[in-house]
Amino acid sequence: ATPTALMVGTGRGAQLGILIRGPEVLESTRAVDTVVLDKTGTVTTGQMALQAVHTAEGGAEAAARALRLAGALEHASEHPIGRAVAEAAAAAADGPLPPVEGFRNLPGRGVEGLVEGRAVVAGREQLLADRAQHLTGPLRAAKEAAEADGRTAVVVGWDGVVQAVLVVSDVVRPTSAEAVRRLRALGLTPVLLTGDNRAAAVSVAREVGIEPGQVVAEVLPEDKAAVVRRLQKAGRTVAMVGDGVNDAAALAQADLGLAMGTGTDAAIEAADLTLVRGDLRTAADAIRLSRRTLGTIR
Ligand code: ADP
Ligand code: MG
Repeated sequence: ATPTALMVGTGRGAQLGILIRGPEVLESTRAVDTVVLDKTGTVTTGQMALQAVHTAEGGAEAAARALRLAGALEHASEHPIGRAVAEAAAAAADGPLPPVEGFRNLPGRGVEGLVEGRAVVAGREQLLADRAQHLTGPLRAAKEAAEADGRTAVVVGWDGVVQAVLVVSDVVRPTSAEAVRRLRALGLTPVLLTGDNRAAAVSVAREVGIEPGQVVAEVLPEDKAAVVRRLQKAGRTVAMVGDGVNDAAALAQADLGLAMGTGTDAAIEAADLTLVRGDLRTAADAIRLSRRTLGTIR
Protein backbone atom coordinates (compact mmCIF):
# COMPACT_ATOMS: atom_id res chain seq x y z
CA ALA A 1 0.00 0.00 0.00
CA THR A 2 1.09 3.57 -0.53
CA PRO A 3 2.07 5.67 2.48
CA THR A 4 -0.99 7.81 1.75
CA ALA A 5 -3.32 4.81 1.97
CA LEU A 6 -1.71 3.84 5.27
CA MET A 7 -2.15 7.36 6.62
CA VAL A 8 -5.81 7.35 5.59
CA GLY A 9 -6.25 3.95 7.22
CA THR A 10 -4.71 5.25 10.44
CA GLY A 11 -7.03 8.26 10.46
CA ARG A 12 -10.08 6.11 9.79
CA GLY A 13 -8.98 3.84 12.65
CA ALA A 14 -8.99 6.78 15.04
CA GLN A 15 -12.56 7.58 14.01
CA LEU A 16 -13.58 3.97 14.76
CA GLY A 17 -12.00 4.12 18.22
CA ILE A 18 -8.83 2.24 17.30
CA LEU A 19 -5.44 3.70 18.16
CA ILE A 20 -2.76 2.37 15.83
CA ARG A 21 0.86 2.44 17.00
CA GLY A 22 2.17 3.12 13.50
CA PRO A 23 0.96 2.78 9.90
CA GLU A 24 3.10 -0.34 9.39
CA VAL A 25 0.90 -2.20 11.89
CA LEU A 26 -1.84 -2.43 9.26
CA GLU A 27 0.37 -4.86 7.30
CA SER A 28 0.45 -7.45 10.11
CA THR A 29 -3.24 -6.94 10.79
CA ARG A 30 -4.15 -7.99 7.27
CA ALA A 31 -2.64 -11.50 7.52
CA VAL A 32 -4.33 -12.48 10.80
CA ASP A 33 -6.35 -15.73 10.72
CA THR A 34 -6.71 -16.51 14.44
CA VAL A 35 -7.87 -14.20 17.22
CA VAL A 36 -7.00 -15.17 20.78
CA LEU A 37 -9.28 -13.47 23.30
CA ASP A 38 -8.41 -13.14 26.96
CA LYS A 39 -11.48 -13.86 29.08
CA THR A 40 -11.48 -11.69 32.19
CA GLY A 41 -11.65 -7.99 31.38
CA THR A 42 -11.68 -8.57 27.63
CA VAL A 43 -14.66 -10.80 26.77
CA THR A 44 -16.11 -10.01 30.22
CA THR A 45 -16.18 -6.64 31.97
CA GLY A 46 -13.86 -7.87 34.72
CA GLN A 47 -16.11 -6.06 37.19
CA MET A 48 -16.58 -8.99 39.49
CA ALA A 49 -18.99 -9.24 42.41
CA LEU A 50 -19.14 -11.56 45.39
CA GLN A 51 -22.12 -13.92 45.11
CA ALA A 52 -21.79 -16.38 47.97
CA VAL A 53 -19.67 -17.50 50.91
CA HIS A 54 -19.56 -21.21 51.78
CA THR A 55 -17.74 -22.35 54.93
CA ALA A 56 -16.72 -25.71 56.32
CA GLU A 57 -18.08 -24.75 59.73
CA GLY A 58 -21.38 -23.23 58.62
CA GLY A 59 -23.28 -20.31 60.14
CA ALA A 60 -23.19 -16.55 59.78
CA GLU A 61 -20.25 -16.05 62.12
CA ALA A 62 -17.99 -18.43 60.19
CA ALA A 63 -18.99 -16.78 56.91
CA ALA A 64 -18.25 -13.32 58.31
CA ARG A 65 -14.82 -14.47 59.52
CA ALA A 66 -13.90 -16.08 56.19
CA LEU A 67 -14.93 -12.96 54.32
CA ARG A 68 -13.03 -10.70 56.76
CA LEU A 69 -9.78 -12.70 56.55
CA ALA A 70 -9.91 -13.15 52.77
CA GLY A 71 -11.01 -9.54 52.28
CA ALA A 72 -8.15 -8.21 54.38
CA LEU A 73 -5.68 -10.12 52.20
CA GLU A 74 -7.34 -9.22 48.91
CA HIS A 75 -7.40 -5.58 49.90
CA ALA A 76 -3.75 -5.47 48.85
CA SER A 77 -4.42 -7.21 45.52
CA GLU A 78 -5.24 -5.37 42.32
CA HIS A 79 -6.84 -8.40 40.72
CA PRO A 80 -10.56 -8.03 39.78
CA ILE A 81 -11.32 -11.06 41.97
CA GLY A 82 -9.43 -9.51 44.84
CA ARG A 83 -11.21 -6.21 44.43
CA ALA A 84 -14.64 -7.93 44.53
CA VAL A 85 -13.79 -9.85 47.69
CA ALA A 86 -12.22 -6.84 49.44
CA GLU A 87 -15.18 -4.60 48.60
CA ALA A 88 -17.71 -7.11 49.91
CA ALA A 89 -15.65 -7.63 53.05
CA ALA A 90 -15.38 -3.89 53.68
CA ALA A 91 -19.14 -3.50 53.21
CA ALA A 92 -19.87 -6.34 55.65
CA ALA A 93 -17.33 -5.31 58.29
CA ASP A 94 -18.18 -3.23 61.37
CA GLY A 95 -14.91 -1.37 61.31
CA PRO A 96 -11.80 -1.38 59.16
CA LEU A 97 -10.48 -4.69 57.82
CA PRO A 98 -7.68 -6.24 59.92
CA PRO A 99 -4.08 -5.50 58.88
CA VAL A 100 -1.98 -8.00 56.93
CA GLU A 101 1.63 -8.98 57.57
CA GLY A 102 3.92 -10.59 55.01
CA PHE A 103 1.52 -10.14 52.12
CA ARG A 104 2.39 -12.11 48.99
CA ASN A 105 0.65 -11.76 45.65
CA LEU A 106 1.02 -14.86 43.47
CA PRO A 107 -0.04 -13.81 39.95
CA GLY A 108 -2.53 -16.20 38.36
CA ARG A 109 -2.80 -18.14 41.61
CA GLY A 110 -3.95 -16.01 44.53
CA VAL A 111 -2.73 -14.24 47.64
CA GLU A 112 -1.41 -15.11 51.09
CA GLY A 113 -0.35 -13.45 54.33
CA LEU A 114 -0.76 -13.28 58.07
CA VAL A 115 -4.14 -11.94 59.29
CA GLU A 116 -5.31 -11.99 62.94
CA GLY A 117 -2.37 -14.26 63.69
CA ARG A 118 -3.36 -16.82 61.06
CA ALA A 119 -1.49 -17.77 57.87
CA VAL A 120 -4.31 -17.24 55.37
CA VAL A 121 -4.21 -18.24 51.72
CA ALA A 122 -6.87 -17.41 49.13
CA GLY A 123 -6.90 -18.38 45.48
CA ARG A 124 -7.25 -21.20 43.03
CA GLU A 125 -7.59 -24.76 44.30
CA GLN A 126 -4.11 -25.75 43.12
CA LEU A 127 -2.49 -23.01 45.21
CA LEU A 128 -4.07 -24.44 48.36
CA ALA A 129 -3.31 -28.01 47.32
CA ASP A 130 0.35 -26.96 47.00
CA ARG A 131 0.14 -26.05 50.69
CA ALA A 132 -1.44 -29.42 51.53
CA GLN A 133 -4.86 -27.83 52.04
CA HIS A 134 -7.28 -30.05 50.16
CA LEU A 135 -10.78 -29.24 49.05
CA THR A 136 -13.26 -31.98 49.92
CA GLY A 137 -16.92 -32.67 50.67
CA PRO A 138 -19.56 -29.92 50.55
CA LEU A 139 -16.98 -27.17 49.85
CA ARG A 140 -15.77 -29.08 46.78
CA ALA A 141 -19.39 -29.49 45.65
CA ALA A 142 -20.00 -25.74 46.14
CA LYS A 143 -16.95 -24.92 44.04
CA GLU A 144 -17.94 -27.27 41.24
CA ALA A 145 -21.51 -25.98 41.16
CA ALA A 146 -20.28 -22.37 40.97
CA GLU A 147 -17.90 -23.16 38.12
CA ALA A 148 -20.53 -25.03 36.16
CA ASP A 149 -22.50 -21.76 36.32
CA GLY A 150 -19.60 -19.83 34.81
CA ARG A 151 -18.49 -18.38 38.15
CA THR A 152 -15.09 -18.37 39.78
CA ALA A 153 -14.46 -19.97 43.16
CA VAL A 154 -11.86 -18.54 45.53
CA VAL A 155 -10.70 -21.20 47.92
CA VAL A 156 -9.71 -19.86 51.37
CA GLY A 157 -7.65 -21.70 53.96
CA TRP A 158 -5.89 -21.17 57.30
CA ASP A 159 -4.64 -23.36 60.14
CA GLY A 160 -3.58 -25.79 57.40
CA VAL A 161 -7.18 -26.51 56.36
CA VAL A 162 -9.53 -25.31 53.61
CA GLN A 163 -12.09 -23.21 55.48
CA ALA A 164 -14.26 -21.55 52.85
CA VAL A 165 -15.16 -21.11 49.20
CA LEU A 166 -16.09 -17.62 48.01
CA VAL A 167 -17.99 -17.37 44.76
CA VAL A 168 -17.46 -14.38 42.48
CA SER A 169 -19.20 -13.66 39.21
CA ASP A 170 -18.30 -11.60 36.21
CA VAL A 171 -20.51 -10.44 33.36
CA VAL A 172 -19.92 -10.92 29.67
CA ARG A 173 -19.69 -7.57 27.87
CA PRO A 174 -22.89 -6.95 25.92
CA THR A 175 -20.82 -6.45 22.73
CA SER A 176 -18.81 -9.68 22.94
CA ALA A 177 -21.15 -12.10 21.15
CA GLU A 178 -21.54 -9.74 18.23
CA ALA A 179 -17.77 -9.22 18.14
CA VAL A 180 -17.23 -12.98 17.84
CA ARG A 181 -19.81 -13.14 15.04
CA ARG A 182 -18.03 -10.34 13.17
CA LEU A 183 -14.62 -11.99 13.60
CA ARG A 184 -16.03 -15.24 12.20
CA ALA A 185 -17.62 -13.39 9.29
CA LEU A 186 -14.11 -12.21 8.39
CA GLY A 187 -13.00 -15.86 8.28
CA LEU A 188 -11.09 -15.70 11.58
CA THR A 189 -11.00 -18.42 14.22
CA PRO A 190 -11.70 -17.11 17.75
CA VAL A 191 -9.90 -18.78 20.68
CA LEU A 192 -10.64 -18.07 24.37
CA LEU A 193 -7.57 -17.96 26.65
CA THR A 194 -7.74 -17.68 30.42
CA GLY A 195 -6.14 -18.47 33.73
CA ASP A 196 -9.58 -19.22 35.13
CA ASN A 197 -11.01 -22.72 35.49
CA ARG A 198 -12.18 -24.65 32.44
CA ALA A 199 -15.86 -24.90 33.40
CA ALA A 200 -16.22 -21.13 33.85
CA ALA A 201 -14.31 -20.53 30.62
CA VAL A 202 -16.49 -22.93 28.61
CA SER A 203 -19.61 -21.30 30.03
CA VAL A 204 -18.41 -17.85 28.86
CA ALA A 205 -17.32 -19.32 25.50
CA ARG A 206 -20.76 -20.80 24.95
CA GLU A 207 -22.38 -17.47 25.78
CA VAL A 208 -20.39 -15.63 23.10
CA GLY A 209 -20.30 -18.37 20.46
CA ILE A 210 -16.81 -19.86 20.81
CA GLU A 211 -16.61 -23.68 20.61
CA PRO A 212 -15.39 -25.57 23.69
CA GLY A 213 -12.60 -26.99 21.51
CA GLN A 214 -11.23 -23.45 21.13
CA VAL A 215 -11.02 -22.79 24.88
CA VAL A 216 -7.59 -22.81 26.52
CA ALA A 217 -8.13 -22.53 30.29
CA GLU A 218 -6.13 -22.71 33.53
CA VAL A 219 -3.11 -21.14 31.84
CA LEU A 220 -0.66 -19.46 34.22
CA PRO A 221 0.25 -15.85 33.36
CA GLU A 222 3.79 -16.84 32.33
CA ASP A 223 2.40 -19.47 29.92
CA LYS A 224 -0.02 -17.28 27.96
CA ALA A 225 2.69 -16.23 25.47
CA ALA A 226 3.60 -19.90 24.95
CA VAL A 227 0.02 -20.63 23.89
CA VAL A 228 0.31 -17.91 21.24
CA ARG A 229 3.69 -19.28 20.13
CA ARG A 230 2.24 -22.79 19.80
CA LEU A 231 -0.51 -21.50 17.48
CA GLN A 232 2.12 -19.66 15.43
CA LYS A 233 4.22 -22.84 15.16
CA ALA A 234 1.10 -24.59 13.85
CA GLY A 235 1.10 -22.05 11.02
CA ARG A 236 -1.42 -19.55 12.32
CA THR A 237 -1.07 -15.79 12.14
CA VAL A 238 -2.29 -14.70 15.53
CA ALA A 239 -3.94 -11.59 16.91
CA MET A 240 -4.23 -11.46 20.69
CA VAL A 241 -6.67 -9.22 22.53
CA GLY A 242 -6.06 -8.61 26.23
CA ASP A 243 -6.29 -6.14 29.07
CA GLY A 244 -4.20 -7.37 31.97
CA VAL A 245 -0.60 -7.18 33.14
CA ASN A 246 -0.63 -10.95 32.68
CA ASP A 247 -1.49 -10.54 28.97
CA ALA A 248 1.44 -8.25 28.11
CA ALA A 249 3.90 -11.00 27.08
CA ALA A 250 1.27 -12.72 24.92
CA LEU A 251 0.35 -9.38 23.29
CA ALA A 252 4.02 -8.85 22.42
CA GLN A 253 4.40 -12.43 21.13
CA ALA A 254 1.32 -12.24 18.88
CA ASP A 255 1.66 -11.14 15.24
CA LEU A 256 -0.78 -8.42 16.24
CA GLY A 257 -1.44 -7.31 19.81
CA LEU A 258 -4.67 -5.49 20.65
CA ALA A 259 -5.24 -3.95 24.08
CA MET A 260 -8.55 -2.98 25.62
CA GLY A 261 -8.49 0.78 26.26
CA THR A 262 -10.10 -0.02 29.62
CA GLY A 263 -7.16 -2.24 30.51
CA THR A 264 -3.83 -1.81 32.25
CA ASP A 265 -0.97 0.38 31.02
CA ALA A 266 1.21 -2.74 30.69
CA ALA A 267 -1.20 -4.23 28.14
CA ILE A 268 -1.57 -0.97 26.21
CA GLU A 269 2.20 -0.52 26.04
CA ALA A 270 2.72 -4.06 24.75
CA ALA A 271 0.05 -3.78 22.05
CA ASP A 272 0.10 -2.61 18.42
CA LEU A 273 -3.50 -1.43 18.53
CA THR A 274 -5.67 -0.12 21.34
CA LEU A 275 -9.45 -0.52 21.30
CA VAL A 276 -10.13 2.83 22.91
CA ARG A 277 -13.69 2.21 24.13
CA GLY A 278 -13.04 -1.34 25.31
CA ASP A 279 -15.49 -2.51 22.66
CA LEU A 280 -14.40 -5.88 21.26
CA ARG A 281 -16.36 -5.28 18.06
CA THR A 282 -13.74 -2.74 17.05
CA ALA A 283 -11.20 -5.62 16.87
CA ALA A 284 -13.13 -6.87 13.84
CA ASP A 285 -13.35 -3.30 12.50
CA ALA A 286 -9.56 -3.02 12.76
CA ILE A 287 -8.98 -6.16 10.72
CA ARG A 288 -11.58 -5.18 8.11
CA LEU A 289 -10.03 -1.70 7.89
CA SER A 290 -6.52 -3.02 7.31
CA ARG A 291 -7.70 -5.41 4.61
CA ARG A 292 -9.57 -2.61 2.91
CA THR A 293 -6.71 -0.13 3.25
CA LEU A 294 -4.29 -2.64 1.79
CA GLY A 295 -6.76 -3.68 -0.89
CA THR A 296 -7.20 -7.28 0.09
CA ILE A 297 -10.86 -7.70 1.03
CA ARG A 298 -11.63 -11.39 1.21
P1 ADP B 1 -7.40 -14.36 33.74
O1 ADP B 1 -6.58 -15.08 32.72
O2 ADP B 1 -8.85 -14.77 33.63
O3 ADP B 1 -7.22 -12.87 33.69
P2 ADP B 1 -5.60 -14.77 36.07
O4 ADP B 1 -4.48 -15.42 35.32
O5 ADP B 1 -5.37 -13.41 36.57
O6 ADP B 1 -6.97 -14.88 35.21
O7 ADP B 1 -5.99 -15.68 37.31
C1 ADP B 1 -6.22 -17.05 37.16
C2 ADP B 1 -6.91 -17.63 38.38
O8 ADP B 1 -6.08 -17.47 39.52
C3 ADP B 1 -8.20 -16.93 38.75
O9 ADP B 1 -9.30 -17.42 38.04
C4 ADP B 1 -8.28 -17.26 40.24
O10 ADP B 1 -8.76 -18.57 40.42
C5 ADP B 1 -6.84 -17.21 40.67
N1 ADP B 1 -6.48 -15.88 41.20
C6 ADP B 1 -5.64 -14.98 40.64
N2 ADP B 1 -5.52 -13.90 41.42
C7 ADP B 1 -6.31 -14.09 42.49
C8 ADP B 1 -6.63 -13.33 43.66
N3 ADP B 1 -6.12 -12.11 43.90
N4 ADP B 1 -7.49 -13.87 44.55
C9 ADP B 1 -8.04 -15.06 44.33
N5 ADP B 1 -7.78 -15.84 43.27
C10 ADP B 1 -6.93 -15.36 42.35
MG1 MG C 1 -7.83 -10.17 31.57
